[in-house]
Amino acid sequence: MNPAVRTNPETGLKVFNTRAAKASERITGKGYSVVTDQKLTELPKMPAGATFNAEEQAKYRAFKEARRGAADYMAMEGEFKKYLDDVYSEPPIPREALDDECEILVVGAGFGGLLLWQKLSQAGFTDVRFCEKGGDVGGTWYWNRYPGIACDVESYSYLPLLDETGYVPSMKFASGFEILEHCQRMAQKFGFYDHCLFHTTVDATTWDEASGRWMVQTDRGDKMRARFVILANGILTTPKLARIAGMETFKGESFHTSRWNYNIDLSGKRVGIIGTGATAVQAIPEIAKVVGQLYVFQRTPSSIDVRDQRETTDEERATWTKDPGWALARRARFAKISEVRAAVLANDDYLAGKIQDFKERKKHDRQLTREELMQKQLDSSFRLMEQVRARVDAIVKDPKTAAALKPYYPYGCKRPTFHDEYLPTFNLPNVHLVDTAPRGVAEINERGVVHEGVEYPLDVLIYATGFQWMGTSTFNRISGRGGRTLKDKWETEGTKTFLGLHNRGFPNLFIVTGPQGGGGSFNFTDVIYAHADYLVWVLQTMRERGARIVDVRKEPEDAYAEHCREVDLATAPLRDCISYYNGEGKATPGSLAYYGGRQWDKYRIEAQSTLMPYLFEGGDSTVSVAAE
Ligand code: NAP
Repeated sequence: MNPAVRTNPETGLKVFNTRAAKASERITGKGYSVVTDQKLTELPKMPAGATFNAEEQAKYRAFKEARRGAADYMAMEGEFKKYLDDVYSEPPIPREALDDECEILVVGAGFGGLLLWQKLSQAGFTDVRFCEKGGDVGGTWYWNRYPGIACDVESYSYLPLLDETGYVPSMKFASGFEILEHCQRMAQKFGFYDHCLFHTTVDATTWDEASGRWMVQTDRGDKMRARFVILANGILTTPKLARIAGMETFKGESFHTSRWNYNIDLSGKRVGIIGTGATAVQAIPEIAKVVGQLYVFQRTPSSIDVRDQRETTDEERATWTKDPGWALARRARFAKISEVRAAVLANDDYLAGKIQDFKERKKHDRQLTREELMQKQLDSSFRLMEQVRARVDAIVKDPKTAAALKPYYPYGCKRPTFHDEYLPTFNLPNVHLVDTAPRGVAEINERGVVHEGVEYPLDVLIYATGFQWMGTSTFNRISGRGGRTLKDKWETEGTKTFLGLHNRGFPNLFIVTGPQGGGGSFNFTDVIYAHADYLVWVLQTMRERGARIVDVRKEPEDAYAEHCREVDLATAPLRDCISYYNGEGKATPGSLAYYGGRQWDKYRIEAQSTLMPYLFEGGDSTVSVAAE
């Protein structure tokens, strides 16, 4: 057995052996099933004459306002810290604390970290080290292993490095377990494991001006120095709990969906689940099959669109295995679809390159004004939501339950979900929807959940209450030039980045898929490709010019942050509801996700061609500008 840390005598680089063994093989409910009943895989026809008229707008507004201020979440601290335990791996591999230096230190071994490694190593950057909180690779797909987990973007466009690994996913929407295996495949194929410190959480990152290095401290006592730090620790990483009176008194078993405890056998038990977001929508149909009684505590219904899962065909497999660039070409076509729904239900012939477009383009007699365009988008969103609501009535038998399951907000304003078995689950005699709208569950006692004076005794309580959104800067204390923390900068100046990747005053530090970090696509994988390619360009440019440090100028950062604000405001009516996307209605416009689509590319291309936004230090003085 190799030691946890050794030095390769040829390269002088450290080689790690810290991947933890699996704690258990027990899992159930591997992703979406193929559903053959056509009634379940098609939306009902659009109701004739449906328009987003004043009455309907008022209904949406009332639905939203009733929920304003209801969301109240808390971190898993104190007695709730136990919900963060890594239940998937054996305890951490013991190792010495490191006190040394590497060129590039990356936080995170999910899709972002894995892709970065493949691209960086190909470009000749090999002194790269990864720190990962979990015991293995996968990130989201490491932590989320709840029954029924699967991707919602087609796996052929979502899974990275399919061409390079020669892998073809088994289903159009691969299960999370298959995706986790693919992460391990990528890690093995490209030698990632040698570079990763697992069960290692970075807790402080401090810039040292004198040495031009970041000092990186971890919860394993490491004190590492790195020339560059890349934060690739995801957008929905830190699980959160709803703050509910009495939750600490509950005597039964309980866990959060992102630490699914398969040691707790749900068979025949009284199980409660709080939350009905994308996670619960996937988990509920699976757990309903095994539990005794299931109580679903819902505050706001999700929009449940069709899934239409299918297996990869023999023809696809045969064609793709002969074409080493199939996945890249498919993802590029996929990225051209800008509407969430059209992309998620993606037309296979278009994606396979058999036809030129995924839908017939409408021609207008004249250029529509911005307002007209917005109205058109709101109208089509309304009609689609009418279909989503009609689907509930068509499937769910109990009228009261059906009424509670209908969402009243624009499509995509909360994360859309896709499932063909979720709605039928509410027809099962052992499944009970407890409608806690509009304020949510407010009381838990030692026996279970109490709502409006009714007690629901439970053996197991599952929190499907989601994750902190875009919390990248708060995961560890990042102190840049002059000792200023990134948190302080964003709190006092508002979130400000250049391209989402650079932060002025935090040289040589890059955030992948963080706030303002667009890539022009809702396919996360597209964004990480764009970010990884960009970072390789930055590092190569610096290498070519002999630059040691890169920061960004004030004006381009201010201008980009202003652009983020403008595009968020311009598209806000399409997301007019209370959602984690807008910080539960409290976020400053432009401070979270990027809504400028492909405009991000314009900023990037211009920056790359003029080099104007950058402040390089060291190396060729004709391009290196240390002072403004
Ligand atoms: P989420 O969307 O944040 O859902 C949290 C749920 O908890 C919401 O339904 C929320 O209701 C509810 N809630 C909070 N406090 C409550 C209370 N006191 N009483 C009752 N309900 C309460 O979290 P998630 O479902 O884990 O999903 C998070 C994100 O992960 C998704 O949006 C998606 O981006 C990602 N995800 C992706 C996939 C996939 O690709 N297949 C699968 C799962 C998750 P309100 O809506 O009223 O606030």
